[in-house]
Order: sequence, then C-alpha cells, then structure tokens
Amino acid sequence: MSRLKIVAGNWKMNKSSQEAKTLVENILHQVSEFDNVVKIIIPPFPYLDSVGQLLKNKSNFYIGAQNCHTHDKGAYTGEVSALMLQSVGCQYVLIGHSERRQYFKEKDADFILKMKEALAHQLTPIYCIGETIHERKTDNHFKVITEQLVSVLKSFSVSDVKKMIIAYEPVWAIGTGETATAQQAQEMHEFIRSVVVDLFDSGIANEIPILYGGSCNPKNAQELFACKDVDGGLIGGASLNADDFCKIIFSF
Ligand code: PEP
Repeated sequence: MSRLKIVAGNWKMNKSSQEAKTLVENILHQVSEFDNVVKIIIPPFPYLDSVGQLLKNKSNFYIGAQNCHTHDKGAYTGEVSALMLQSVGCQYVLIGHSERRQYFKEKDADFILKMKEALAHQLTPIYCIGETIHERKTDNHFKVITEQLVSVLKSFSVSDVKKMIIAYEPVWAIGTGETATAQQAQEMHEFIRSVVVDLFDSGIANEIPILYGGSCNPKNAQELFACKDVDGGLIGGASLNADDFCKIIFSF
C-alpha cells in the first residue's frame, strides 16, 4: 500500500514577519517543482495568512497551525479556533505536541476536543505522541505510546481516524540533536500501526500516515524515510533553514 509522503515544518515561536516571507520564498525557489511530497508549513499564527498567500497554487504545499482551541468562538482571550484557521486556508493542525503537554499542561481530554474541532472544520489533525527519556530507559515506551494512542483515538470513529496523521516524536529527541535511530523509529512506527489495528482494523492502520519527529535533519532524513513504516517527518529546528528543509524534502 502506498501512503502519502509528507514533510511538515513546525516553526514553533520563531521568525519575524519578513523572515517568514524570505524563508518561504527560499523554499519555493528550490522545491516548487518537487511534486511527489506533501509539504506543510506550520508557522506561528500571525503569519498563516501571508504564508498561505505565498503558497497559493503551489503544488502540494499547504499551511498548518501549531494549535487550536477547543471551542469555535467566545471569551477565550488569546486563543485561536479551528473555525478561524479554516477561514485563512489552513488545512492541518498539530495536536498534542510535547511542548503543549509539557508547558501548557494539555491532557488527553483537551486533545480529544481539539481534534473534534479540527475535524469539524476540515482540518487534518497531526496527533503528536512520544515518550520521555525516563520512559524509554525504564522500558515503558511501548506502554506510554499505547496509552497516548488509545486514550484519545478511542473517542473517534474509523472515518475520523482516516482523516488524521500521527507523528511519533520521542521527547528525548526533540530539539536535542539526538535522533532516534532508523531502527528505533521503524520499530515504534510498526508498533503504532499494531495499536491502530487493535483499536480499529488493518485497513486504516495501513493507510494512516505516521511521521517521525525529533532532530530530523538533512543527514539522517534519508535513512529515516527509507523505513517501511515512516511516511515522512515533522521537522522543528531544521525547518527554519530553507536549504536544510529542502534537503529533507529531497530525502525521499
Ligand atoms: C518538533 O518540535 O516537532 C521537532 C521535531 O523539533 P526538532 O526537529 O527541532 O527536534
């Protein structure tokens, strides 16, 4: 079964408006004809509209958001809803990123509501999961990943899950320069599919794209993307540099 190849760049809280424009222009300059990879740019909220304008009509380029709120609208100062994201042309949204779990104390109940909001507004949720270094060292990584998957996905139907992407991002690899080996990534991605089989069925488990995230860079992307169950990458630091991000895209 051939799944989509996807590279998503999570800029986190980086770049000025002008830097954002320059970065996108430099990416487009190198990649505009490279059609067989879905490319998702995930800038900070204030740049979604302008980045979206730059990507308009560019083949297989999309914009995504780093978060969304659990409600459509209302007195939630400082928040941004899936409805708003949809209205600026956003098509993807990260849910459950480890930084949201760690710094903003977001929990499974939040992820479920956010995913429901995202799906209600035709956004593809990219559900991020991953174990800490302590959990891996104590041999609890499979258990933790199972819990993160089951506790959230059990609230959704097969047809909902068909509209999702999963990103496996070991917390110990995010922003640390330490990457999971291709073997560790493949082992966990295969395991994630087995959990999806248990929850739903093998059809959906084979279809759902699973991205690897955690210090993915131009040097290791090729080996990671060559793994049978790795369908691409969620890229943090290396997505802030046009040359690095494009080299990662070319790694398939
Ligand atoms: C991320 O935060 O999603 C990420 C993968 O970051 P980095 O590539 O910098 O490890």
